[in-house]
Parts: sequence; C-alpha cells; structure tokens
Amino acid sequence: MRWVTYATDAGDRVGVIGEDRIHPVASDVSLVELIGRGAEELRAAGEAALTSGAWPVPLAEARLRAPIPRPPSVRDCLCFLDHMRNCRQATGSPRTLEDAWYRLPAFYFACPSTITGPYDDVEISPGSAWFDFELEIAAVIGPGGRDLTPEQAEEHIIGYTIYNDWSARDLQMREAPLAIGQAKGKDGATTLGPYLVTPDELEPYRRGGRLALRVEAKVNGTSIGSGRTDTMDWSFGEVVSYASRGVELVPGDVFGSGTVPGCCLVEHLSLTDPAAFPGWLRNGDVVELTVEGLGRTRQTVRATAAPYPLTPRHDPGRRPPRPRVNRAPSRLPYTRGLHEVGAGVWAWLLPDGGYGWSNAGLITGAGASLLVDTLFDLPLTTEMLDAMRPITDRHPLTHAVITHSDGDHTHGSQLLGERVRIIAAEATHTEMRHEMPPEMLTAAQVLDIGPATGYFRERFGAFDFSGIRPRLPDLTYERELTLDVGGREVRVMDLGPAHTGADSVVHVPDAGVLFTGDLLFVGCTPIVWSGPIANWITACDRMLATGAGTIIPGHGPVTDPDGIRAVRGYLTHVVEQADAAHARGLSFAEAVETVETVDLGEYATWLDAERIVVNLHRRYRELDPAATPRLDRMTLMAMMAATAGKELP
Ligand SMILES: [Zn+2]
Repeated sequence: MRWVTYATDAGDRVGVIGEDRIHPVASDVSLVELIGRGAEELRAAGEAALTSGAWPVPLAEARLRAPIPRPPSVRDCLCFLDHMRNCRQATGSPRTLEDAWYRLPAFYFACPSTITGPYDDVEISPGSAWFDFELEIAAVIGPGGRDLTPEQAEEHIIGYTIYNDWSARDLQMREAPLAIGQAKGKDGATTLGPYLVTPDELEPYRRGGRLALRVEAKVNGTSIGSGRTDTMDWSFGEVVSYASRGVELVPGDVFGSGTVPGCCLVEHLSLTDPAAFPGWLRNGDVVELTVEGLGRTRQTVRATAAPYPLTPRHDPGRRPPRPRVNRAPSRLPYTRGLHEVGAGVWAWLLPDGGYGWSNAGLITGAGASLLVDTLFDLPLTTEMLDAMRPITDRHPLTHAVITHSDGDHTHGSQLLGERVRIIAAEATHTEMRHEMPPEMLTAAQVLDIGPATGYFRERFGAFDFSGIRPRLPDLTYERELTLDVGGREVRVMDLGPAHTGADSVVHVPDAGVLFTGDLLFVGCTPIVWSGPIANWITACDRMLATGAGTIIPGHGPVTDPDGIRAVRGYLTHVVEQADAAHARGLSFAEAVETVETVDLGEYATWLDAERIVVNLHRRYRELDPAATPRLDRMTLMAMMAATAGKELP
C-alpha cells in the first residue's frame, strides 16, 4: 500500500492511494498513530478506506505533505560507503576510509522540524553558496522496540519513502573541524515523500534480501546521477539494530540510507577541472528525485536572506596577524566609503587594496550617471550603491563601465537596474563568459588546499560568494569609446591586454579625473595575469598622456601622475630583475626558488609583494616560452602562498 498525508483546510488528513485517488481514513488519525499499531492493523485501515464511501481526492489535486510531517526522530545513515569515498576524492583527499567506517554503521540526527513535503519549495540554508541535494531512501519504524537484532529490525520497518538530505556543503565544511557531528550544514531541510510504501508492495524489487530500486537525480531536467539501492554496504536492518542498542525506537522514527553514490552534486566536484562541475543549486533550480517503486519528488530551490552575523571569540593561542598597512602617500584620506574627487565625480574606496578590496567610481551628468565597476560580492556592492543613493536619486545610473573581468570588479553587476547599460571591452566580455562560477571561490574559505590553505583563508575569508550571477555587458567596444553621460563627455579606452585580456580606463576630461581599473595598484603590488608587460608599460605612458591630475587606481588610495610613474617603475624593475636572472642561466623554477634574492628595492614595502612570483612567471613566458611551463591561476596562487610564507622583506 502507498500511504500519504495531505493538507486540507481542516488540517492534515491521511489516506491510502487507490489508482490515481487518495482514499481518506477517519479524520482524527495521523499516519504515525496508524503505523504504530503494526502492519496488520495498517493494512486493515487501508482496506477499509479503499472500500468506504468517503469521497476520494484526485491525487493530482492534493497538496501532499511529507507522509510523516513531524517524525519523532530522524537519523540519517551512511550505508553506501562509495558516497563517502567519492566525496573525499572530490574535495582533494584520498579515497581511503578510516577503519571505523567498516566497523560501525554511521548515522547522525537530523532536524525533525525542517521536514518538507515532496513538492514544496526548499530554501537555501542562509549564508550557503554551496547548496546541494542527496538522493536517499528512508525506512520508517512502525511498532517501537529496543535492542533489536538486524532481522528483528527489518520487521519493525513499516514502510519506505524517498529522502532528500539537502546539504549546505560550505557550512558543513566550516563546521567539520568541530568534529561533533552535523549541524547547520545539514538542518536546512529534509524531504520525505511522496508516499510511505509498505514493504509488501516492494517485494518484486528484492534481490538477495535487499531492495534493488533504480534511482535517478535530475536538476532542471539534466541527469546528475543514477544508481541502485542494493549497493548498500550496511543494510537498514543493521543500522536500525545499531541505533536500537539501549534506545527505544518509536513509531515514525525515520532512517535515511545515505546518498546513493553519484546522486548529489558534491561528488562531481573536481578541483583539477572546475569547469566540468554542474554548479551548486541556485534560486529557481528544480530538483527531481525518482526512485523505482517509491515515486518522485520535485522541488524548486529558493534564495534566502543572509544570516544574522555573530562576532568571533578571541583565540588566546593565536598570534595576531601581521598588520597590513597600505603605506602609499594619499591625496585624500584612504578610508572606506565615498569620496568626492572632482566636480560631480566620486571614488568609492575599500582599504587596504589587497585581493578583493577594490575601488569603484561614480561620474554624474545632468540627470544621469555612470558607475565605474562593481565590487567583489553582493553585500559590498549593496553597501556602495546605498551610499551613492543620495546622488543617484538626483542623477539616476544610466551607464556602468566594467574595467576588466576580475570578480572584484564584476560580481555586483546583477544589482544594477535593468535600465543601466553595462559597457565593457570586447575581450572583457569574452573573459566574463568563461569565468568559473563565482561561488567556487568559496573553496578558498572551506577546503583544505594544502600548505596554501592559511593564505587563502586570510586573503578571501571576508567575502560572501553566495548568490552572485554577474550580468554580462549590454554593449562592448574595441579600443575606444566616447560616452555622453547627461551632457558630460566620458572617454573609455582599452589599454590592455596587461593585467587581464582587456583593461579599460575611464577618463573624465573636464574634471581631470582618470579611473584606471587594475592598471594601477597603489601601495600594493601589481599582478600581471595576462601581459605582455611591455604593453602595461605603454599603458602607463598612455594614462600619463591623458593629462589627468587625479588618478583613482583599481586598488589603493587616490593618487596623481606619480602613482602611475611608480607602477611603471615597478614593471620596469621586474623586467630588469627577471632578465638578469634569465641571463644568469636560472630557469623560472630556479628563479622562484630563490625569489627572496630578487631585489624588490623600494617596492618591497608594497602589500602582497609575493606577486613577484606571477610577474616573474609572466616575464619568463615572454623570454623563454619553450622552457617555461604555462601555469594556471590556482597553481600560481599556491606558489605565491609559499613565497609569502618565506616572509619577503
Ligand atoms: Zn582588482
């Protein structure tokens, strides 16, 4: 028999399915009460409902709840050990499991108050950028009992249902070091449904005493994984027996099987090939789990507001981090917020100019304004747009120029109104299209990435990478573009490739102000992701040639033409040092090994001096492409972490 609980105006009702209709039982009984009476009485109640005169409800019109909407307890087990092996591999650990996994059937207690029905919307756990599902099946206890043998335990199972263990992977990984079990990573939601199916109904699917149900998980119609439930390493009988040791199990207690291997997202994560990952769940995604004999759940994922923040406690054992001070001379106080830098021109500054702490700008004309860049996450961009509102209320945003494709300049673009035209260089548009999903940056906060872990946590720990869907540019240009912003001339020029494949600067001639994007880092070290370096040096000359006196860098305090000359000087110095090392016969690997011998001179006090590694690599690729390996950003980041650990002067 297939049992359901469904919502009516008068509260929840219980019924049994006959063809495509629900036949209700007496109105004052819950499914937990019914199943507590045992299989015989349950069957009798079902047969009575099917033959009674009570008006049946078409299944298609009923709003199904979880069959047990509020179980007394929910234990989620880990019966398929391959799921755990696959998870380890996906997050960069060896597949081997500790001995305990082979000795004890693992389970944790899930939250009974967040059970959801088979077709209900599911909210993303607040603060999670890595929301996932897990296809499982659940066994439900009928009559209670304790100290059961596995054989007795099987007899106490009154039915089975689909179980979706919604999981916030990033929250789970953050909590993992606590090692006291699952918490906010797992208690966002658990789905049960659509039916509670009695064991007799599933007899045709038994193979060697185990249920062999074919399963498949889909997101937005695309299959993510499939498998069969008889590959369980631990049986339900065994886990229920284990759980019953010294504990009274009661009617309605739920046991999840653990994920059928492959039937969740995290197992498909690949640190070596992030592009192959299907992506974490996003607002509007539809997750469908199908299990032979048990039916199908179909749910839509919904975004949630950020959680209320808690202040960390002081760790008495931790050395305070080295203070990071941007020492560049500044024409204006280098403080977080909006600063007027010319008539109707503002800079938004975010000290200290390190990774993700980028600047933006606002240029107003009559009844119109142009934004230069967004910020690294949605809260930062929201804070900026809110602070600009007194100005943009009078001069509504009409244009936004994205100077280049890096996330700290693009990630807030979805917050711009529909009437804002987003403009970028053609090559920036191309790079943005191929960028990995922003939420993958959460890896820097939650994954153990070897010796570089601390460096990544320190640099990227402060940002919130959830919910980011960068809007692509509406208009692209090549080389140069002149805009009319409420009667004011604004010139946009692509001076790249240099920092990235295209690097736009925004010039306001009548105010003598130049926004340079990441062609300028002031008091912090430039990083040559793209090059050629000679082109960046030429870009410095072209920025100087604009004659602008007030210069807003992509990172660091407001400067003047001397700030451009300083970056030009740094790049020239890197070329000289790299060329000298190369001339001495050092390979790139050898040059990096001895990077502390590179004389950074006056540039050694700039923040993030370890970026010399990337810049050396870039120059070596120019000098000797055959002998210098091509390295991806992650590898270079890890090398910088190692160099930073050497404490450059
Ligand atoms: Zn930047």
